[in-house]
Amino acid sequence: MTDIREDELLASVPDGLFIGGEWLAAEGGRTLVVRDPATGDVVKEIADATPADGMAALDAAVDAFPTWAATPARERAELLRRAFDLLMERKEEFALLMTIEMGKPLAEARGEVAYGAEFVRWFSEEAARISGRYGPNPEGTGRMIVSQHPVGPAFLITPWNFPLAMATRKIAPAIAAGCTVVIKPAELTPLTTLYFAKLLEDAGLPKGVVNVFTTSTSGAVSEPIIRDPRLRKLSFTGSTPVGQRLLEQAAQGVLRTSMELGGNAPFIVFDDADLDKAVDGAILAKFRNIGQACTAANRFIVHRDVVDEFARRVTDRVKQMKVGRGTEDGVTIGPLIDDRAVAKAAALVGDAVERGAQVTTGGSAIEGAGTFYAPTVVADVREGSDILREEIFGPVLAIVPFEDEDDAVRIANDTEYGLVSYVFTENLARGQRMIERLETGMMGLNAGVVSNAAAPFGGWKMSGLGREGGAEGIHEYLQTKYTLTPNP
Ligand code: NAD
Repeated sequence: MTDIREDELLASVPDGLFIGGEWLAAEGGRTLVVRDPATGDVVKEIADATPADGMAALDAAVDAFPTWAATPARERAELLRRAFDLLMERKEEFALLMTIEMGKPLAEARGEVAYGAEFVRWFSEEAARISGRYGPNPEGTGRMIVSQHPVGPAFLITPWNFPLAMATRKIAPAIAAGCTVVIKPAELTPLTTLYFAKLLEDAGLPKGVVNVFTTSTSGAVSEPIIRDPRLRKLSFTGSTPVGQRLLEQAAQGVLRTSMELGGNAPFIVFDDADLDKAVDGAILAKFRNIGQACTAANRFIVHRDVVDEFARRVTDRVKQMKVGRGTEDGVTIGPLIDDRAVAKAAALVGDAVERGAQVTTGGSAIEGAGTFYAPTVVADVREGSDILREEIFGPVLAIVPFEDEDDAVRIANDTEYGLVSYVFTENLARGQRMIERLETGMMGLNAGVVSNAAAPFGGWKMSGLGREGGAEGIHEYLQTKYTLTPNP
């Protein structure tokens, strides 16, 4: 429940493109509509940018870059700090807006505001710590200076599943580093980024430092920007196939790139795990964000001796989940983002069942308005099933049994992805062996959620390149210069 009126909130969200500090209509007055996935209703009509609009946004970022790059770090930091404070003041508005456009339960949306805001605070602090080094070279023939410089105008592309956090995780380090940006949120959930741009304006953002365009033709508008030699950085979060296409486009200009791509997280439960902790972790790792997270556990790999007990306990928990619009009290499972997502969950469950798995609860789409799929547990999934290879991106918990540690590692690493893994064991040495053996950029050891603004978030293998957050995050937007100077 919230006291905020949805119509008033939606009316206060800008509907234009934010370019050079102005809110503008798209060329030719083109518009696109945003829907509530819980009802299918149109909630707002906003500008639909053309390639000319996209280029105007890049022009603005390029014009603003020299001044912003030369702005003292402390001033950049203070802008971010004011933005953090405003986010805290407007926490309820941002939470409700995300629930309306994306569908996640309000309690989770509040959690995302806190998480997304942390990146703004973290990078306000990191801005002042950009540093270099000075010292003699090993031969003693000269002095070496190593300095850090903003990489230049950056293009940021974000997905629909975490509308605020994906934007702040890119915008905050970019502007902390002295870069100017153009950001393109996902067409399905653009309102949160527009509302955040308005907040930045209120925090005193100089014109052109952050520019936002929304479009229904992402490829056509983005490609000329990526191919423009004035752009120096591309940061993308989304699916691996789109990331691969953008990397090809970025190759032409040898752009710096950060890629946060898909995942296929294993969640391993050993026979020496504390099953209470494992079940709690499983529910979080699977059903947070209605299963629509790149970090969502995709494959529950459970030791044969505890697999029946684990399946029984998670099934009991899932049966208690309440499905509905995220604004309703007690709802833990909102809608999936669209029809395609529902069809995908249904197809993956269908394939698993055909190959011999058993559905212990759920297992079907929910009829009526909105795009809902029942929270589901599928036990005894056979190796080779599609559900073990593809990102489910829905509330489906798939369990596959294993025999011994080597078997668990083999199944876990049998994927092209390598974003995150979860391991539940009370055996310290085994936990340490898993850190060595699992091919992922992140790991939850007896923990079902790993995300933190202070940690380097990112994947191995086809899950991506680069890191967001932590001390590493700002370096994605900095380039290094080495200078040699004679001894004094
Ligand atoms: P998507 O790849 O379809 O879209 C991501 C963004 O790219 C959207 O803004 C979309 O409009 C845009 N886009 C699509 N085609 C484009 C093109 N040709 N040119 C330029 N932009 C284009 O992904 P999605 O469905 O929005 O998000 C889900 C995916 O994102 C999942 O694979 C998930 O694992 C991944 N994801 C990864 C992380 C991470 O940090 N690794 C975080 C969240 C989501």
